[in-house]
Amino acid sequence: MKRNICLALLTIVGVFATMTTYAARQDRASLTVYDIADNLFMLANASSVQGMGGGGNTAIFVTNDGVTLVDTKIKGYGQDILAAVRNITDKPVTTIINTHTHWDHTGSNTEFPDTVNFVVHENTRGHLASDACGDGAGFQGGSIKNCDSFKGANARFLPKTTYSDTLTLFSGADQIDLYHFGRGHTDGDTFVVFRAARAMHTGDMFQRLGLPFIDAPNSNGSASEFGETLEKAVAGISNVDTVIPGHNPVPVTWNDFVNFSGFYNDMVMQTQQGKAAGRSVDEVVSTYSVPSQYSDFSAAEGRLRTTVQYIFDGQ
Ligand SMILES: [Zn+2]
Repeated sequence: MKRNICLALLTIVGVFATMTTYAARQDRASLTVYDIADNLFMLANASSVQGMGGGGNTAIFVTNDGVTLVDTKIKGYGQDILAAVRNITDKPVTTIINTHTHWDHTGSNTEFPDTVNFVVHENTRGHLASDACGDGAGFQGGSIKNCDSFKGANARFLPKTTYSDTLTLFSGADQIDLYHFGRGHTDGDTFVVFRAARAMHTGDMFQRLGLPFIDAPNSNGSASEFGETLEKAVAGISNVDTVIPGHNPVPVTWNDFVNFSGFYNDMVMQTQQGKAAGRSVDEVVSTYSVPSQYSDFSAAEGRLRTTVQYIFDGQ
């Protein structure tokens, strides 16, 4: 009996803590800050349901020696990000991790001091430094890869710290683990794990509760390999409770991430079964259905058609 009361109390405290953790502080007109832990915050964008108004979600992590940011939204948001940091701490921004190359995740990198330690996967550095910027489908006529922002004098902002499979930054309560599990949204995606906070920033390997945009044409992403990469992340990362997705307007849970992997891989399976049965892309799209256990996830028809076509083409 006594044990049951204790469990009930723990449950109530747990629910209350979760609500407190996700309480949004409306610090500025457009950007909303979510408290993930004492020293970890998600800087979202309240002005847009999709979170695209200012670009991807930014993580603000306060360490002993300075502030680490994950992703810098679109160009022109450096001062907004810094204002949100200043509401939390006076410490300088010393490290910026970009989850991948895209313009809506690296857009404001060059608005921070060039003394910042910029950290990316080695393939992402390759995209940022490349001469071939892609199809101009990004912001203000620029490229989605954002490599035109790092030309000339701005080459000094190109990341000097890169890694291949895993990288650990800092130690103790400040420890951050970076993981790359293979191709997916691009070929240089990083999962960023904040050890003590039991939290993870997924970048666009988990954008929101729906089918992902996959940049196969410009950044060597792969719809065919995206699902395997998710499965490797689910198996290879442990002790995470809270997830900061690439664009979802609010933080989600590890369980949501596991379900996203299941949802995506089921779509791959339905596509491969349809293809094996001789169905066309159109037929696969029209017969596809979201399994009931993944009913939180949406599969917009245009996004589904693009993804199914990529899988048919082996992309
Ligand atoms: Zn992206």
